[in-house]
Amino acid sequence: MSDDTSVFALHYASRPEATAGEAYYRHDLYHEPDSTIGMDYFFWLIRAGGESVVVDCGFAEHLGPIRNRWIETPPTTLLQRMGVEPEEVQHVILSHMHFDHVGNIHLFPNATFYMGRAEFEYWTGPFRDNTAFSWTVEDREVRQVEALKEEGRLVLVDDSAEIGTTGVRVTCFPGHTPGSLVTEIDHPDGTVVLASDTMHYYDEGLLNRPFVAFTDMEKMLHSYDGLRELDARPGYDLVPGHDPAVLRRYEEVAKDCFDLTKKKENA
Ligand SMILES: [Zn+2]
Repeated sequence: MSDDTSVFALHYASRPEATAGEAYYRHDLYHEPDSTIGMDYFFWLIRAGGESVVVDCGFAEHLGPIRNRWIETPPTTLLQRMGVEPEEVQHVILSHMHFDHVGNIHLFPNATFYMGRAEFEYWTGPFRDNTAFSWTVEDREVRQVEALKEEGRLVLVDDSAEIGTTGVRVTCFPGHTPGSLVTEIDHPDGTVVLASDTMHYYDEGLLNRPFVAFTDMEKMLHSYDGLRELDARPGYDLVPGHDPAVLRRYEEVAKDCFDLTKKKENA
């Protein structure tokens, strides 16, 4: 761990109209009225020991009209607000292949990329065209990840791996997708756990409510258990991937840039 480690959530889009009924699998089973819970879109920046690590890279701008969600601040602008040019980024962790996590790979021409081996093999294997799952990915982006592998720029992670020299590690938590990666970052005051889509919302874990999109329900529930165990460790702080509450819980150090090592009081 580097003494100057910092972790930021960069907020690039939002869908305030998103409802619980859209987010949770069979929400009707809970016998609650549907409610608006919103969905926010982030990617994450880790700075440590002179290295920059990016976790996920948002969805591609041209998908806005197709997917009915819009980039509010381009990823490059957010990185620049934090003093980072994309070309300088050494490592990019792709938590999973969903379109809102792998849409801007081209911004990072000098980075080494990391993805779960099970994730890569699933989306390049026989299920890639199964409509029940394939709506969550973009063919073009799967091909871009395949090209990274051919160029020798993609590291496939079996169970867990250390990234760079920065005290950053990734671990496979399957279920939402077959090889979803969770990122842990040690910093001087504790450990930030970036759940990405292994837990979209705080309530998803607290109430143990399955998210609507998954490839293996049982594994997804086991992964919620694993994340709760991590969050219970002293000094650990779990950050879900899409929860609007993240915008309120952490210090905003530049517009739409939140320091995840600085939780607000009473948050
Ligand atoms: Zn996802």
